[in-house]
Amino acid sequence: MKVAAIKGFSDILPGEVESWQFVEEKAREVFALYNFSEIRIPVLEKTELFSRSLGETTDIVEKEMYTFVDRDAMGTMLPPGPGTIRGSSLTLRPEGTAGVVRAYVESEMYKIEAVRKLFYLGPMFRREKPQKGRLRQFYQIGAEVLGRGDPFADAELLLLLRDLFEMVGLDGLTLELNSLGCVACRPRYREDLLSFLGERGKKLCGNCQRRMGRNPMRVLDCKEEVCSQLTGGAPSILGFLCESCEDHFGTVKQLLGETGLEFKLNPRMVRGLDYYCRTAFEWTSPRLGSQNAVAAGGRYDGLVEELGGPPTPGVGFAMGMERLVLLLAMKESKKAARPAIYLVWVGATARVWAFSAAHRLRRAGFSVEIEGEAKSLKSQMRRADKMGAQFVLIVGDEELSSGKGILRNMDSKEQFPVSLDRIEKEIAARLETNTD
Ligand code: ATP
Ligand code: MG
Repeated sequence: MKVAAIKGFSDILPGEVESWQFVEEKAREVFALYNFSEIRIPVLEKTELFSRSLGETTDIVEKEMYTFVDRDAMGTMLPPGPGTIRGSSLTLRPEGTAGVVRAYVESEMYKIEAVRKLFYLGPMFRREKPQKGRLRQFYQIGAEVLGRGDPFADAELLLLLRDLFEMVGLDGLTLELNSLGCVACRPRYREDLLSFLGERGKKLCGNCQRRMGRNPMRVLDCKEEVCSQLTGGAPSILGFLCESCEDHFGTVKQLLGETGLEFKLNPRMVRGLDYYCRTAFEWTSPRLGSQNAVAAGGRYDGLVEELGGPPTPGVGFAMGMERLVLLLAMKESKKAARPAIYLVWVGATARVWAFSAAHRLRRAGFSVEIEGEAKSLKSQMRRADKMGAQFVLIVGDEELSSGKGILRNMDSKEQFPVSLDRIEKEIAARLETNTD
């Protein structure tokens, strides 16, 4: 029976996975430079964590979550009706911030140190229409700075991302920046926006009409042609910032200027989630087509408190791995891993010798590939070549009795005799000169 993977869920196969590993490695490097610690959180959480923190009217909570009832006698009765079962409603995490903040509050991390800088990497799940750069299981690398409300934290996160893009060799990304204000200034903007929408509101798409009451700013984010046309001349949030939001945003911009990080102001960028305030940003690339955002994030000063912790400001981002890897693939493909040594053996005695030599070499730190079945010398050499082995070590009865094997440099095609009782040293010396 052949079973296919689920739509929107994909495998990352050898050949492609090397780019992923490369990005992950660079991300760990940059997080270490900025003194972030890794946090690993579950992929499954109680549904209310997401509905509470992301907001009931967000795309994610309204229609994209993978939610199911975990049969559980202790759980609450779910909406009564025919076939109702008792259980807890659980959801596969659609994003990482809510879980990180939940863990922060639950473990009372703030008691140990007021400021925590955390990063995570792993899969997220959203039931969206699968297409290029958009999957149902996708991977994010994200970071959260908890306990810092100052604009230096926002600017530092943006610099970290710029450094990461540079380290993986990506250029041509645009940083779009906005401020969403705070609870003090947003209500005034909301009123102004609502009066601008006024009659126009009735012509907006169904989704926007529904949301106008709860969060009219969402309308600016709508991808529908009719909505973006109708709201073309909408007032800008930036004209409504209170003094302290204005100062905060001013310093973020000044710090970016100071460090030579270019940005484009985009007052229409409102971000999809309810918990954002003040700084909001997106890194986009025109090369990605309509799924153009590689990374996005912003400030969420009220979220920790909303999830039961002490008042704690926060700022973070999440970067989409698939889109980043797509961009990297447009530049160059990373080479698949190649073994340093391919051990070619001929004859039963050499087979056993080669088996334990391979083990010894691996313990000495070399990647080694070896044939399991008896194959001709020629066919083993062909396979070594196909795998891109750097060296081939050839051993048969003759080599065993003389104590000298044949080492072939597959790049230069040169061959040398090597002492079998000290192959680790011989190979180490050759590998060193080979990579020079
Ligand atoms: P978009 O507007 O592209 O749907 P979003 O605002 O929903 O993005 P965020 O929740 O901010 O995305 O997630 C941060 C990043 O995660 C995005 O910039 C993107 O790179 C990536 N991402 C989000 N959803 C998906 C998905 N379904 N498949 C692949 N990557 C995704
Ligand atoms: Mg989305």
